[in-house]
Amino acid sequence: MASRADAKTGNETGSKPGMKRIPRVGLPEGLHPDTLAVREGLPPSAWGENSEALFLTSSFVQPDAATAAARFANEEEAFTYSRFSNPTVTMFERRLAALEGAQACIATASGMSAILLLGMGLLAAGDHVICSRSMFGSTLMLFGREFAKFGVETSFVSQTDVDEWRRAVKPNTKLLFAESPTNPLTEVCDIRALSLIAKEAGAWFAVDNCFCSPALQRPIEHGADIVVHSGTKYLDGQGRVIAGALCASEQLVNERFVPVMRSAGMSLSPFNAWVVLKGLETLSIRMRAQSERALALATWLEAQPQVERVFYPGLASHPQHALAMAQQAGCGGAVVSFIVAGQGPGGPALARSNAFHVIDQTQVCSITANLGDTKTTVTHPASTSHGRLSEVQRQAAGITQGMIRLAMGLDAVQDIQADLLRGLSTLPT
Ligand SMILES: *Cc1c(COP(=O)(O)O)cnc(C)c1O
Repeated sequence: MASRADAKTGNETGSKPGMKRIPRVGLPEGLHPDTLAVREGLPPSAWGENSEALFLTSSFVQPDAATAAARFANEEEAFTYSRFSNPTVTMFERRLAALEGAQACIATASGMSAILLLGMGLLAAGDHVICSRSMFGSTLMLFGREFAKFGVETSFVSQTDVDEWRRAVKPNTKLLFAESPTNPLTEVCDIRALSLIAKEAGAWFAVDNCFCSPALQRPIEHGADIVVHSGTKYLDGQGRVIAGALCASEQLVNERFVPVMRSAGMSLSPFNAWVVLKGLETLSIRMRAQSERALALATWLEAQPQVERVFYPGLASHPQHALAMAQQAGCGGAVVSFIVAGQGPGGPALARSNAFHVIDQTQVCSITANLGDTKTTVTHPASTSHGRLSEVQRQAAGITQGMIRLAMGLDAVQDIQADLLRGLSTLPT
């Protein structure tokens, strides 16, 4: 079967010496990530296509029965069946691994199935996990409810208080899991500090890198063992498909994740892999352009009298601004949240109607909870992504009724400003 192997390091990390491997693209060593983003993958087929081929095939014809046996027994790396591996999916995996600075990658059907694979590959009944309580909502549900059914216990701790993570470590702690920055408050955790706690505890450390992507943040360089992705967001970048991936050492991928993938089958479809593969080619320029626009918008929002507070890591007013700039290649990312003024005597009901007013006055922004699109999206977290929480839980999480989350796309900043000003300037006083 085709392992997600990197031939340069493969023989040190669990694959058989002298094993026949799927070939690499003939590229020189030490290329810049921008080049790898458009070049890494597989050699072209016999036809010499320049744009990567989409292999829409469920299975692969074997030359003879003995070769088929060797391939199914993992004695030879080759393509057999698309639940295990497919050339288009492998191209995406190799390219994403190169961008994250990881040895290997395994693609999954969605971001959530990547997190499911993370848990299934690393955890067993009786194990303990420490997870930031500001993680993506479905991640909190997966660990807090679904994995709990199988005897995996999770402690939820502060996104920013490193000591709380250290105090939560138990003898059976196997995994620390964080995400940075978070949605919608853009809180930044110290990846290096958390990686040291994991190391001391003998646990793995995984980082959901959805919001920054490897264009801005490479968690493995800061000590993470595993990087989790929702390819649905910035990797695709144009809001087209659902996809996910885990990046890690070749040993972790081959020994922990590939066997689960074979049995559980949360595979990425070749079509979706092709879309995300091509998305990676423009990832770096999109992330930088969208971050620049987000900073301009956040700076402008902070100066608006009708805006009570802006949450954006690129602003000096952000509580983890310095850490974010060091960890995220000097960029704040593309997500900006803000609170519309007017909580006052009207309370949460007025705050909510003011936020709805601003959202409903937009004519350019897309009203949708997705993010990572070239089209700017706007949403009201308290009634959508965080709508399942009780009001008390929402208050504790800091997600107030007056909050709006905006995921800056490639729209011109002036048009998004005008779009927001239409509502901000007509709020009832
Ligand atoms: C969207 C998202 C996910 C889940 O990804 P899907 O592709 O929607 O399954 C996980 N983590 C974060 C941070 C996300 O924003």
